[in-house]
Amino acid sequence: MVNNESEFRVKVAIRVRPFLQREKTHEQKSCVAIHPQTNQIVVGDRKTFKYDFVFGPKTQQEELYETCIAPMLTNVFDGYNVTIFAYGQTGSGKTYTMTGGNILSIGEKDYGIVPRAVQTIFHTLQNRPDCRVTISASYLEIYKDDIIDLLDINDKALDVRDDAAGNTIVVGASEHTCHSVDDVVNLLKKGSTARHIGATQMNDESSRSHAIFTLHIEQRMREKNSSSLMIQASFDGLMKPAQAAFDESYLSAKLHFVDLAGSERVARTHNTGERFQESIRINSGLLALGNVVSALSDPKKRAGGHIPYRDSKITRLLKDSLGGNAKTLMITCVSPCIVDLDESVNALQYAHRASQIRNKPIKNVD
Ligand code: ADP
Repeated sequence: MVNNESEFRVKVAIRVRPFLQREKTHEQKSCVAIHPQTNQIVVGDRKTFKYDFVFGPKTQQEELYETCIAPMLTNVFDGYNVTIFAYGQTGSGKTYTMTGGNILSIGEKDYGIVPRAVQTIFHTLQNRPDCRVTISASYLEIYKDDIIDLLDINDKALDVRDDAAGNTIVVGASEHTCHSVDDVVNLLKKGSTARHIGATQMNDESSRSHAIFTLHIEQRMREKNSSSLMIQASFDGLMKPAQAAFDESYLSAKLHFVDLAGSERVARTHNTGERFQESIRINSGLLALGNVVSALSDPKKRAGGHIPYRDSKITRLLKDSLGGNAKTLMITCVSPCIVDLDESVNALQYAHRASQIRNKPIKNVD
């Protein structure tokens, strides 16, 4: 069923991480100033940017979650697709923000937005007597433009195709039904163990792949239907106790969490050989994503109608999240260090363009 909905601008949050111990030891200088009251960030001594949310180095996981993630989840419960992206150079805090660090070892207090969102979803939906809820999860990685199923590891890369309605489908991606928060956290652990992690000169745990963790949420609600009760009573012609009659309504939503590969330019990491080829191909995905973001944020190009979604797997998979049927939040992570100034300015400009994008979310009802 189609609902006419208004446009929804892609929202952008910036998070500046604190100095790390080694940066303190080397007396790194800061290049960013935060103005949370006006949601502005000043980089270097020149550029000021304004976003929907700006979080400084002291922001705790809970505060970020309550301010900009919990309100997005209300949309999921109402039947809208929601996407949350993490963008930024390697070492800027994407993993810390998304999962809270190493999901295999962190405690609940340090949980990032994914496990917190999972807790909220189960606590909100599980104990509703009027509602049957089915929650399932999938976890994909895009590595050198190949799609890998992180929850069903084999040597085969998965293919994508478009269905009759124009939705991009990953053929053969495994989907796992989850009955509890622990079920989902265990899948996150399984997927994170499988994920390609490699050391580069930028960061020992830098991730050179994109990862998309998706929750599929279906709600079947039973509502008493008073009109059918009356019809049944009058059909019988007798005033006897009426049978209970219910209508079942259906809402579904997809919640994507996307952890993008590091946004740094190749030259900076001094990668060579196999790693250099990887960087190029990973960056070609990010480049394609950047082209999509640029085209969508430019009213003339957007009106022209050609948005280059088909240039890479990541842009095909994120078509709905950028310019399509989803409500989207991009969290751009930024290092405070002056040595990272250029990368931070690039990331903030990218985020600014993303904030110009308008999506057209449609409620998934039946
Ligand atoms: P990325 O995923 O972007 O490569 P990480 O999330 O691994 O970066 O962060 C790099 C380092 O910075 C990690 O040691 C992480 O614990 C730390 N860090 C990042 N953001 C924060 C934050 N907001 N508060 C405290 N430490 C952080």
